[in-house]
Amino acid sequence: MRAFPINVSSLTLDQLQLLNGNWYSKFRNYWRPGMDGALDQWELFIKGGLYDYKDKRDDLTKETISKMSPFIALGNISIRFLWASCQELIEVEADPAFAQQIESFLRQLIWREFSIYQLLSYPSFTTLSLRSNFQHFEWEPNSLYLHAWKKGQTGYPLVDAGMRELWETGYMHNRVRMVVASFLVKHLLQPWQEGYDWFEHTLLDFNAANNAMGWQWVSGTGIDSAPYFRIFNPSLQGEKFDIDGIYIKKWVPELANLPSKYIHAPQTAPTAILEQANITLGDTYPLPIVDHKTARARALERYNAIKKA
Ligand SMILES: Cc1cc2nc3c(=O)[nH]c(=O)nc-3n(C[C@H](O)[C@H](O)[C@H](O)COP(=O)(O)OP(=O)(O)OC[C@H]3O[C@@H](n4cnc5c(N)ncnc54)[C@H](O)[C@@H]3O)c2cc1C
Repeated sequence: MRAFPINVSSLTLDQLQLLNGNWYSKFRNYWRPGMDGALDQWELFIKGGLYDYKDKRDDLTKETISKMSPFIALGNISIRFLWASCQELIEVEADPAFAQQIESFLRQLIWREFSIYQLLSYPSFTTLSLRSNFQHFEWEPNSLYLHAWKKGQTGYPLVDAGMRELWETGYMHNRVRMVVASFLVKHLLQPWQEGYDWFEHTLLDFNAANNAMGWQWVSGTGIDSAPYFRIFNPSLQGEKFDIDGIYIKKWVPELANLPSKYIHAPQTAPTAILEQANITLGDTYPLPIVDHKTARARALERYNAIKKA
């Protein structure tokens, strides 16, 4: 049986002009789509980042993560291939220290599978909080906050860097996804579904199950999720995982001349230092849209109310 005649008349991909003029056409600068691109990226990872994956995967200044997610999401490479390739490496290299790094990577692939099982078990996983008491949670929808978050204009450099990396490349590091998600939900009290929708719109690796698990984990509404009282401090997260602000300076160039000491909280820099760095807070870079301590206390109060309900 023939599925279709060989001489199908059709437009070429180029003629469809799918990328022309669209904001995401710049993704081309960062990714090589297709199986060849996927295999090249995989080779790069197993010869480099994988050796430090367990210990360094949260370091935002090192390329220790695989960046395989867009290829996986778009079907350019299979999880079974990655799994088998890792098993082979463990056997061939026979190095217990390396095996530990590889096993840590394999655990991430299992998280992915776990999210798919959750979506299969709960078809409303992508829209409703799994913990039913959260359906009464008092969010405070605010279009200005949401807009500032999407555009990377919150005045919190790590959050802004992550959101701008996403817009520019269609990708964001997992550590930063957790920080920006926590910021939207806990600092700004915006419904997690808003963040889910924005990630669906912008992520090259968008996957409904992974995305829903990520958002519900951070919000404390899902299975095995982060405890509600865990509210990331974006400045401290920056100090820990981007010590010198290299990641921030890459994606928030208006802060490029600020000394590392102030890069995670520019509002704490003396006026003279800001002037030398050509920064006018509230003009060239925003002041923080919420105060961390106040926002944290407000979120805890709101979450405590749910706990008692
Ligand atoms: C709010 C939020 C939303 C997310 N949305 C998505 C999404 O739409 N699509 C998506 O693929 N991932 C999503 N993730 C999970 C994770 O951030 C990405 O899989 C990871 O950053 C991809 O980069 P990598 O391929 O370099 O990961 P690596 O660290 O190299 O991990 C290898 C692979 O394991 C899987 N993986 C890693 N971490 C996770 C995780 N926490 N949960 C599930 N699978 C994981 C991915 O398939 C990834 O490609 C989300 C996380 C959060 C916190």
